[in-house]
Amino acid sequence: MKWLALILTLLSLPAWAEEPARLDLGGSALVATGRGWGGPKPLELRLSLTKPVPYRAFLVGDPARLVIDLRGADLGMARPQDLFGADLAPAIRWGRNGDGWSRIVVELPGPYRIDSAGQQARAALSQITVALAPVSAEDFAPRPSATTALRDLPDPADVPPPSPDDRFTVVLDPGHGGHDPGALAEGESEANLVLVFSLELRAALQARGVDVQMTRQDDSFVNLERRMTAARQAQADLFISLHADALPEAQAAGATVYVWNPAADRRAAEQLTLRHGRDDLLAGVDLKGQDDALTGVLMDFARVDTQPRSERFANWLISRMSLMGIGMHGRPVQAATFSVLKSPDIPSVLLELGFISDHDDRANLLNPLWRERMVKVVAEAITGWARDEAARATMLRQ
Ligand SMILES: [Zn+2]
Repeated sequence: MKWLALILTLLSLPAWAEEPARLDLGGSALVATGRGWGGPKPLELRLSLTKPVPYRAFLVGDPARLVIDLRGADLGMARPQDLFGADLAPAIRWGRNGDGWSRIVVELPGPYRIDSAGQQARAALSQITVALAPVSAEDFAPRPSATTALRDLPDPADVPPPSPDDRFTVVLDPGHGGHDPGALAEGESEANLVLVFSLELRAALQARGVDVQMTRQDDSFVNLERRMTAARQAQADLFISLHADALPEAQAAGATVYVWNPAADRRAAEQLTLRHGRDDLLAGVDLKGQDDALTGVLMDFARVDTQPRSERFANWLISRMSLMGIGMHGRPVQAATFSVLKSPDIPSVLLELGFISDHDDRANLLNPLWRERMVKVVAEAITGWARDEAARATMLRQ
């Protein structure tokens, strides 16, 4: 057996003792560097720091994990789930590990070896790169002291699986339908394209053990209230409204995720709101005038918890799309006041799969291969987000 994928690098840099290096999350990422050919893919973890630090990287087993210890680094408020590509790993955790050290633990999707590890320092920046290559179970050579490697850090094994009567439920809301075809272009209707996509997405989610309910399953008209009521009755854990709208040429191409924000003032979002208002689909922010001051306060109160959850799901979508090479709008996450997003207690997003008015987007929506890729993106974002939220809820209870 090949012994010990342990790399220990101690640089003699007196600077680290004075002021901690900070992790630059924006410049850090977990990326797949090749194909997996049915197995785990080669991975590379890139950590961007405000200056070089001593570090060490090694593997532990049961389950296979990469551990990186950093000396004199401040991970600050950065959250592992916000790391670009975090969903390539079953779990990532980090925290202080005592005595000036911080520890990053990346749970690996299979047995790996450390192919290379290095630190490149340039002026006031430093990047630590750890390349991992998948190996067979026999060739996996973890450091022996696996149990001590997780000191002080929560383990995913502590997260109980959801009980069967507490199934995770997603409500899919294909926009428009019936006498309202939504946007039209070149003989295609938005209502039909988003229905086709939603049915394919439902199948993919059910295959992953997710309960799915739909606000419509055929070409029928469903008004806004019924769409929201359906989500509430299903006790939805997540509500996704699917659209493929039209906007003036230069403004709209690529997938876009909208999350609720009463302060939204984007021009494109306003145009969509206006158009949908006319269609009586996303109209009536005030829920037929029942939205008095007290209701407003109660809704805002509930939304304090729901809003970040919606935003985290939007980020999962964006990160997945980016990894899968899905073309996105220049500002892929936008704020909007669409009423379907207004449920105060159900995380909700409106996903524009693309814009029917854009030639390439329309071709994508009509292409079964593109839809298959996008279905995978959304399905994996949903399961990744759900797992992450469950772990977060457990940690908050402890
Ligand atoms: Zn629409």
